[in-house]
Amino acid sequence: MSEISKEELTKKVISDRPHVVILGAGASRATCPDGDKNGKKLPLMNDLVKCLNLESKVLEYGMEPKQDFEDLFSFLFDAEAFEETKELEKIIYGYFKSLELPNTPTIYDHLVLSLRETDLIASFNWDPLLLQAYRRNSNKGIRLPRLAFLHGNVRMGECKKHNRSNYVGEICERCKEKLEPVDLLYPITTKNYAQNNSLKINWDRFERHLSKAYQFTIFGYSGPRTDEEAVSIMKKAWKDKHSDKILADTTIISTNTNDEVYEHWKHFFHSQYYELVDDFYKSDIAKYPRRGFERSWENNMEAVFVEENPIPKNLDFPALWSWYHQFVETEYRYRIKNPFPKPPKWYKNRI
Ligand SMILES: [Zn+2]
Repeated sequence: MSEISKEELTKKVISDRPHVVILGAGASRATCPDGDKNGKKLPLMNDLVKCLNLESKVLEYGMEPKQDFEDLFSFLFDAEAFEETKELEKIIYGYFKSLELPNTPTIYDHLVLSLRETDLIASFNWDPLLLQAYRRNSNKGIRLPRLAFLHGNVRMGECKKHNRSNYVGEICERCKEKLEPVDLLYPITTKNYAQNNSLKINWDRFERHLSKAYQFTIFGYSGPRTDEEAVSIMKKAWKDKHSDKILADTTIISTNTNDEVYEHWKHFFHSQYYELVDDFYKSDIAKYPRRGFERSWENNMEAVFVEENPIPKNLDFPALWSWYHQFVETEYRYRIKNPFPKPPKWYKNRI
């Protein structure tokens, strides 16, 4: 088997086919395993009540506090306990809004730097950590992927009148008004994503990328029970559109066992084949940053062994940015030869 060295791989860009990454609560927890900058825990659905000290509140509602937040919230909503659900929403919004990334590089910093401008990170998380990582790695001469927030986000703002979305508090370029916070989507059984305009923009962006994608990574997201609509949209855009592309890669980053993961996602895969890793740094994104397509193509289609070029985990920010600059020139030359078509209307909503 012939071999491509990491230096040769760095100098190779052969396609704009996107890599789509989905993030669930498990990804934010893995990014801050010991809590955020101030030690606040990143909750999962099954320990949200405990992390936010909501036990006594939930008991007041006459409910069992040791249950999954999805079940709890869905039940209250279905029972039309709107005073209670409103109160919970307010507490949750405030908690998530207060979360902050530590000052040193985290998994989210490595993730945004390791994908290219045609890739997409679609997050189900309300917390602001991904946006904080995006912002502090912007304008460093390295083009970052696009983002979509599928359940809303505490740092996202919108102008409903002009369909603009950006960081909350920034100005709409059309009416010069401040962007208003977007609604968060809480776990209720029927979500009807299309009803909310800002969410629809994010879901459309996600579908558009996924239907063209060559690689798909699911990180810390188990496809919750109340999210049937999400799973069916993903199935349509990935599995059905790619029925001829058996070699398209799916990776799952999860600390669950193989059997549990397979049970969650079995209707979604082309075959039983997918790669399961229990740590972000074992995934292809971390082993072949910014060259995932090229690695996969050389390896699977050309049967060439490709040397790994792993993210250096322990560098501080300036050293990290300068490490990522090894990729920039080749990407720039590729873009000159393959310019983007005239940007469509939706391009305005850049983040
Ligand atoms: Zn406006």
